[in-house]
Amino acid sequence: QAKAAGRHALCFFDPAMQARVMERASLEADLRQALADGLLRLFYQVQVDGEGQITGVEALLRWEHPERGLVSPGVFIPVAEENGLIVPMGFWVLETACRQLAKWAATPATEHLTMAVNVSRDQFRAPDFVDRLERILAATGARPERLKLELTETLFLEDSEDTRYKMQRLKSLGIGFALDDFGTGYSSLAYLKRLPLDQLKIDQSFVRDLLDDPTDATIVTTIITLARSLELEVIAEGVESEAHRHWLAAQGCRAFQGYLFGRPVSVEELSLTAHPRPVAGLEAPR
Ligand code: C2E
Ligand code: MG
Ligand code: MG
Ligand code: MG
Repeated sequence: QAKAAGRHALCFFDPAMQARVMERASLEADLRQALADGLLRLFYQVQVDGEGQITGVEALLRWEHPERGLVSPGVFIPVAEENGLIVPMGFWVLETACRQLAKWAATPATEHLTMAVNVSRDQFRAPDFVDRLERILAATGARPERLKLELTETLFLEDSEDTRYKMQRLKSLGIGFALDDFGTGYSSLAYLKRLPLDQLKIDQSFVRDLLDDPTDATIVTTIITLARSLELEVIAEGVESEAHRHWLAAQGCRAFQGYLFGRPVSVEELSLTAHPRPVAGLEAPR
């Protein structure tokens, strides 16, 4: 009977689990090939200031899979982090982003733009991370002052002396640091004091419901206040509506990223000349 077979299957052979294992294995093999074959793409999402002017972009990785289409980093970054591919992949991202940054720097209209790049814990932990980034900067001609590395709290959980040392070396070159997904990790706030951070990024999970959920609203307000008292910049991610933007601006947030301003797109589709859109009711005095 089906039930008996089902029970048997559960004990000795779980087809669903095997499918997942095979899916994983094929994803892993495909990913290795994708890096070699140049099927990874960088998309860019704009970041804007309080006046709605574009100040820079965040580089976001995409994988152009021959059969699956565009694969989201939410699917393949965890795989790459587990099998170590994240290290070579991350350097490909840094090099591609720096090459783009140098291109923008050569044109007056885009000269001011900053580039935020996500760096995984294991990539930052690579012993030669600083040297390799220095070589990428030299080779591409990108200005370190325009580059911002987005790190997450997982990096600060252990071995923080090495992290601090590397951050200080990079900082002395002019590179900035944003703390991504702030508030979602196991944060001890002590590292905010010890590490040379420039910016806190309010995670979109807090931004999404802040208009309806008083707890999220309180968390966001607290992060903005914390950033101000520590003299850090603060940027809200996942800003999807004018109402969100207005609320955040009223709390003192002056930097935004989200679908309201633009989705992540290829460099060809990227519009860096969007008209500034001041927050209604909060226009700068003339
Ligand atoms: P993240 O760094 O927190 O990036 C923000 C994510 O939020 C992006 O997802 C972006 O597309 C999405 N997003 C932006 N605005 C909105 C919005 O208004 N609404 C909603 N619902 N989502 C919005 P994406 O591109 O799928 O990337 C997911 C994560 O993958 C990133 O989160 C980052 O942790 C990781 N990732 C992406 N590219 C790289 C990379 O080059 N290196 C590493 N190490 N990680 C990367
Ligand atoms: Mg990020
Ligand atoms: Mg984030
Ligand atoms: Mg995130």
